[in-house]
Amino acid sequence: MNKFYYIADKNYSRKKVDLSNLKVESVQWTFENITVDEDSSPSELRHLADFLSKKQFDLVINLPMRNGGVRRVSNFMTHGYRTRRLAIDYSVPLITDVKCAKLLVEAMRMLGRRAPRMKTHTDCMSSRTMIKLPGLIDIHVHTRDPGSIYKEDFASCTAAALAGGITMTFAMPNTNPAVVDHQSFALAKERAVLNARCDYAIYVGASSDNYNITPELAPLAAGLKMYLNETFTTLRLTDLTVWIRHFQSWPKKYPLCVHAESQTTAAVLLLAGLHNRPIHVCHVAKKEEIQIIRAAKEKGMAVTCEVCPHHLFLCVDDLERIGPGRGQVRPILGTKEDQQALWDNLDVIDCFATDHAPHTAQEKSSEKPPPGFPGLETMLPLLLTAVHEGKLTIEDIIDKLYRNPKRIFNVPDQPNTYIEVDLDDEWVIPDAMPFSKSKWTPFAGMKVHGSVHRVVLRGEVAYVEGQVLVNPGFGQDIREVQAKIKPQTIPNGLMVDVGCQSRPDMLPSSEEEQNSMEICFDGNNIRHSEDSIWKKDICAQLQNCILNKTNVHFALDIDSREHTKLLTTTQQRTISPLPISNATKYKSDSNPNLQLTPVPSVCSIHTSHNIIGHNILTVDIFNKELLKDVFNLAESLRNAVRKERPLDHILRGKVMASIFYEASTRTSCSFASAMERLGGRVIYMDGSTSSVKKGESLEDSVTVMAGYADVVVLRHPEPGAVSRAAQQCRKPLVNAGDGVGEHPTQALLDIFTIRDEIGTVNGLTITMVGDLKHGRTVHSLSRLLTLYNVELRYVCPPGLNMPDHVVCGHFVITPQLMSRAKRKMVVMHPLPRVNEISTEFDMDPRAAYFRQAENGVYVRMALLAMVLGRA
Ligand SMILES: [Zn+2]
Repeated sequence: MNKFYYIADKNYSRKKVDLSNLKVESVQWTFENITVDEDSSPSELRHLADFLSKKQFDLVINLPMRNGGVRRVSNFMTHGYRTRRLAIDYSVPLITDVKCAKLLVEAMRMLGRRAPRMKTHTDCMSSRTMIKLPGLIDIHVHTRDPGSIYKEDFASCTAAALAGGITMTFAMPNTNPAVVDHQSFALAKERAVLNARCDYAIYVGASSDNYNITPELAPLAAGLKMYLNETFTTLRLTDLTVWIRHFQSWPKKYPLCVHAESQTTAAVLLLAGLHNRPIHVCHVAKKEEIQIIRAAKEKGMAVTCEVCPHHLFLCVDDLERIGPGRGQVRPILGTKEDQQALWDNLDVIDCFATDHAPHTAQEKSSEKPPPGFPGLETMLPLLLTAVHEGKLTIEDIIDKLYRNPKRIFNVPDQPNTYIEVDLDDEWVIPDAMPFSKSKWTPFAGMKVHGSVHRVVLRGEVAYVEGQVLVNPGFGQDIREVQAKIKPQTIPNGLMVDVGCQSRPDMLPSSEEEQNSMEICFDGNNIRHSEDSIWKKDICAQLQNCILNKTNVHFALDIDSREHTKLLTTTQQRTISPLPISNATKYKSDSNPNLQLTPVPSVCSIHTSHNIIGHNILTVDIFNKELLKDVFNLAESLRNAVRKERPLDHILRGKVMASIFYEASTRTSCSFASAMERLGGRVIYMDGSTSSVKKGESLEDSVTVMAGYADVVVLRHPEPGAVSRAAQQCRKPLVNAGDGVGEHPTQALLDIFTIRDEIGTVNGLTITMVGDLKHGRTVHSLSRLLTLYNVELRYVCPPGLNMPDHVVCGHFVITPQLMSRAKRKMVVMHPLPRVNEISTEFDMDPRAAYFRQAENGVYVRMALLAMVLGRA
């Protein structure tokens, strides 16, 4: 708090609040000279509003009059009331209760005019209503890559998707070249592999002559796309015999999507019916289209459909605002009646899809504007606005952008993937959204209610508050993930080839998850082993399932957990030795407004990475999965410590030998604290003990101490000494720093702190400042950071081999210096700080070094528990 202004209602005595030790600056308040009963003129009111609007007050204290409980109507117009009203309107904190005011003043007096210390895990509150949704799936996106990357490319398109809460996009084939064969498919795939930031699949386009080769591409593709009407493509199919050929050759279990408008919808539905061919109708826009699809569904035909946000939220009446050229889109915008018909038939609509079709603002304003709207960044805010207006429910959004696309297109789980949505955010869609290259939007000027706050994709924070944090190449081809099939056991004891979740990082992570695993069949495996009787059985079972479902025709899929599990996309690793009672995964447990979905309670203890009995000598033994295990466990342990849950059963009866040949209060105490918090005991030996003085070798000392203990923690000034000792040591040995060599546990706690403070490690710029040549912390940390996508910068004095006393004081972090730094960053330091950070900076929320030191205990608790086989 920089300034503290005090405003009291003039009828309330200021003396009642003890301000003797505080410097309170009063402001020139024009109301003072006006009698209360008279309304003040607007110009005088503006004076106070000016102060508030410019945030010149950090706090307003205004105590309402309580004169005998008599409320006159005019009370609502008193200056006091207006003052309070203005404070609320300008979001300036307001105190209206005299007891609270006294408490505040007393607290400030006790602090002696210093700002209070931040406790970041409790001092952050939000009045926003945040909800968590699954990562959304957009089945209809024109990426323009390859061919027209000036309009859009995989990197910009998937950035726009993430900003819109979409974690999976299906790319349409009308690129240049169009995706119609192996070669063009490989080209599009290559672009996606390098550039996609979110997960994806690629469509194959039906051409007049490629029906012989498309079946080979079917398992690799999102589906087959058939263009049956005029639009922005070279792939239009006019010949009915070609339609039939594609219907006959494309395997029935793979999605087949059609662009079919008006009569064409009727024609293609008839033909599909005749050929017993499930189809998905893209971007239904007209009343007659949705009605015929309703009729087809009622007849039991295998048809699903999608509707685009622009057909739901815009109609021909909007063309005047958008402009006739920019308003060009296929299918064209409908009439008010068409638009209403879509809303009236929401139950027939299986999916929402953007049909994101970017063209540049210049092209859209040209003589011959190409048809298409961008839509990835605006779809969810528009839909949330409809929820706000009562036209739609959150369940509708989850159904049409997650559950149904997932089932219709046979999409594997994206583990640990979810989005956080702010339902209270009101904003006006600007002329252009930030991430798409198109730089215009037909929704400009529309007021919306709701925004995407954060997107987590496969455990990584991919987007937060306007910033995309994952790099091009982070996205995975979901069909490739499905193709890496391994046989797995399902609960009924049968072995089946499960067509999803085959990658290690796509595996279901909890036991409950495995028991109720969603089984997505890849039909290939059935086809290749039809001689197997039990597989036929399963086939029959699956077919039954399909018959019972109205809207899934391609994906053979048993969804046993349906509605209970779908929101629970946070899959916590079950490495915790503690029962996880509720949603502890998330940082804001102090915020009651953040609605979280409970994580299933887990009692079993098992780590997916076994480091029982291993030495921790360097950071090289850690891969990303193991780090995740260590960090998740450390986080659970921290929660348990904070909530004073008992932990001393975990390492009861275990002894740690702490051997320090070099002084280090911090590391030694941190390890000791970790051991003791888990119920273990610590024995100590330092370089000044008698046997070392008598000339006992390091190896001998360690061997003797190992005999007394279950785990040895060793620090030695000589690089390599710890590894040497480890060769003699029969017990797991943890390196607590060896000269300028390594300091693995410090590096772990550093990354844990970055993760904790910022929410992610990926996408960050990490600057290391100071004596880098002699800092073993820096050596271990830099090596560990190579596992993440980070930009590392080193800042050090010229001639970094200067003696310490010269380096000292060259780089001092002060509040003055940091006022020029970013707000969204953290300052870390392994401590002790010697003239490197000014104590004045400690009050800054960015000062993370004390929290960092505390984290060291939790990370070491996790490591000790894991190494000793108790996690
Ligand atoms: Zn399209």
